[in-house]
Amino acid sequence: MNHLLEEQYKQLGIAPEVLRFGTEIEKNLKERFDKIDAIAEFNQMKVIAAMQKNKVSAECFNSSSGYGYNDIGRDTLEQVYADLFHGEDALVRPQITCGTHALALALMSNLRPGDELLSPVGKPYDTLEEVIGIRPSKGSLAEYGVTYSQVDLLPDGAFDYENIRKAVNEHTRLVTIQRSKGYQTRPTFSVDRIGELIAFIKGIKPDVICMVDNCYGEFVEEKEPLEVGADMIVGSLIKNPGGGLAPIGGYIVGKKECVENAAYRLTSPGLGKEVGASLGIIQSFYQGLFLAPTVVSGALKGAIFAANIYEKLGYDVIPNGSESRHDIIQAVTFRNKDAMIAFCEGIQAAAPVDSYVTPEPWAMPGYDSDVIMAAGAFVQGSSIELSADGPVKEPYAVYFQGGLTWYHAKLGILSSLQKLYERNLVKLV
Ligand SMILES: *Cc1c(COP(=O)(O)O)cnc(C)c1O
Repeated sequence: MNHLLEEQYKQLGIAPEVLRFGTEIEKNLKERFDKIDAIAEFNQMKVIAAMQKNKVSAECFNSSSGYGYNDIGRDTLEQVYADLFHGEDALVRPQITCGTHALALALMSNLRPGDELLSPVGKPYDTLEEVIGIRPSKGSLAEYGVTYSQVDLLPDGAFDYENIRKAVNEHTRLVTIQRSKGYQTRPTFSVDRIGELIAFIKGIKPDVICMVDNCYGEFVEEKEPLEVGADMIVGSLIKNPGGGLAPIGGYIVGKKECVENAAYRLTSPGLGKEVGASLGIIQSFYQGLFLAPTVVSGALKGAIFAANIYEKLGYDVIPNGSESRHDIIQAVTFRNKDAMIAFCEGIQAAAPVDSYVTPEPWAMPGYDSDVIMAAGAFVQGSSIELSADGPVKEPYAVYFQGGLTWYHAKLGILSSLQKLYERNLVKLV
């Protein structure tokens, strides 16, 4: 172990035995990290190629205000996204406030009264329940006469093809497929598996729109869902593709008609993509996208490192230490309240921002138990930055994600381990 480095870690509160424990684990991950680097390299080239093809220039970084007519920075960025993700067109805007908004926009603009929305992969992300009307809400799809049907995954995580076939009917207009498990325990789907599902559905009903909720999945693999038959992909810029630099935003990429519908809904029928000032933040969208492949690779390494550390210490981790990864989320089940809280305190203590505050469990709206959240982020609520959270109740599971660099993710995990170690909640064997 490099002595200077050990001293530096010590200054940050990491004991030599904790660092050594982590370093031993890291040694065994070299091959996996090499694979992640190779994917990042591929995706970096893909991003640069799309920027070069569309002649990104300094002029693209100019600010626009008011209506934002002829904002070439905005229009060029949308073309970059379209090429990069293999779509015909794209909508990438600061006026899309978050991932839920982007998904709501894609759904509400492409569905009409009398249509049915189908989720063939079980329950969608929590915040979509009110969008769809699974939980009644003002302005939900249900209020506008759009019905919803759902087919759950089989117990082993496989698609229930038989019941999906039965669920597709003459009203089925749009199928939503969530790539990441989000905060559930089902597996995250690889892009190839999503492709198989789409092929099956299009085999039954070719004109159905297949939308993929791409949150947390961008740049984890070489391929993205439009390359395997999806019509539209949707995501948040304060997750993977914003690279930690975009301060707000969401995207929809795909078929021209799907994107146009979304643009007409975001602004107005007739105006569509023509308006929408970028207010001086477009450069961060370009720079964030440029950095995104390596940022995602750092986050992935952090997730794998955490899985291997906590698996070795005897905790349940999802995904486990050796399985292949399709998103950046890592769950660790502590089955112990003190350990869960110690973990979150450690993540917080390692942050570049707000490291001196102690995260406390609190009653968050919409949850039936206290929730603890650790995040010391440059962009508020950004989950591509190192963060951890979970409901403070049995089985005391923490969801952990992000890290703008691998070294920061590593420090965060070592710091979490340090807290557990100091409090005699783990033995380092
Ligand atoms: C984060 C996330 C969303 C919602 O995005 P917000 O920006 O939090 O609104 C939707 N789906 C998935 C799978 C997500 O991970």
